[in-house]
Amino acid sequence: MKIVFTWVKDEDVKYFSENLKGHQLIFYKDYIDKINVEEISDTDILSVFVFDKLDKEKLSRFKNLKLIVTRSVGFDHIDIDYCKENNIKVANIPSYSPKSIAEHTLALLLSLTRKLKTSIEKTTKVDFTQTEDLMGLDLDDLTVGIIGTGRIGSWVARMCLSLGMKVYAYDVIENEELKKLGVKYVDFDTLIESSDVISLHVPYSPQTHHLINGEAIKKMKEGVILINTSRGAVVDTDALYEALKEGKIGGAGLDVFEDEDILILEKYEDGHSTDKNLKIIKLSTLPNVIITPHIAYYTTKAVKNIRKHTVEAIKMFLETGKLGSFEVV
Ligand code: NAD
Repeated sequence: MKIVFTWVKDEDVKYFSENLKGHQLIFYKDYIDKINVEEISDTDILSVFVFDKLDKEKLSRFKNLKLIVTRSVGFDHIDIDYCKENNIKVANIPSYSPKSIAEHTLALLLSLTRKLKTSIEKTTKVDFTQTEDLMGLDLDDLTVGIIGTGRIGSWVARMCLSLGMKVYAYDVIENEELKKLGVKYVDFDTLIESSDVISLHVPYSPQTHHLINGEAIKKMKEGVILINTSRGAVVDTDALYEALKEGKIGGAGLDVFEDEDILILEKYEDGHSTDKNLKIIKLSTLPNVIITPHIAYYTTKAVKNIRKHTVEAIKMFLETGKLGSFEVV
């Protein structure tokens, strides 16, 4: 079998080479737009990451493709309908370490409630004064509203409960175990109207596109903190920027954001960036905004598990034609 991997690091090459012996393996450190697809149009299996946009046009250039394994939870970068129509199976890696993303969510939250960005900026400039802008908030005074209580959101809920927070949740499917622990499921409007902190954990889809828009923000509490570790376009960045400027939103912690592809990939290519008009660059200069470059998943454990599960998915497909819990189509 010919198996092509994109967006790999040296450790990935080593692991996949050791664990997929007997196959023709081709590795690219680049993302798909930088690869000459003609060179690999006869591949049987393609393993990609979230920056590899596999739209209809790109997919139609693969002649033998039987399986795509995205080494991520989200699969919104792949045209799933096209894959279904053309008998291409799609696998994701859903359970590599949801706790890693939940922990990053907590890191963003605590950084905001304890004013770490301003504090670190000051001490880095050898300013150790205890100014009023460094006064923090106690988590056990706050209600967090979790939108999406799947694998990641349910860990965030447990962590927030253990820190003494009141936890509201909104999801199309309610998690009975979380209810027993004290999580209260409410409707979307109640959640956004009553929460001091809102944390997003839904997949990106037409239903969740700009779920947090100007209208939703209007209903939120003054000074609400918004955390997004799901997908950038779940939040309307323009509306968020206006709300932060006005003080309606008191803080934002963003691991994902619209335009992140441009920024992360440009940086990846030439070590510097970028169009200063990108919305997120304007946001990044605000003291009450913390941005990380889509690294909520990026821990030693998670990365090891992603590699391991990728090999498991490929082997299962080759041996049985099935994908079990890895299957998204
Ligand atoms: P999951 O499928 O376990 O949970 C998603 C939850 O959202 C489910 O409970 C589902 O019922 C709910 N949901 C879906 N659509 C909804 C809607 N329209 N309204 C209300 N609820 C809805 O997924 P997960 O493993 O918890 O991951 C969630 C998302 O996190 C992924 O789709 C991915 O986009 C993102 N993610 C980000 C990173 C990162 O590094 N920042 C890493 C992994 C995953």
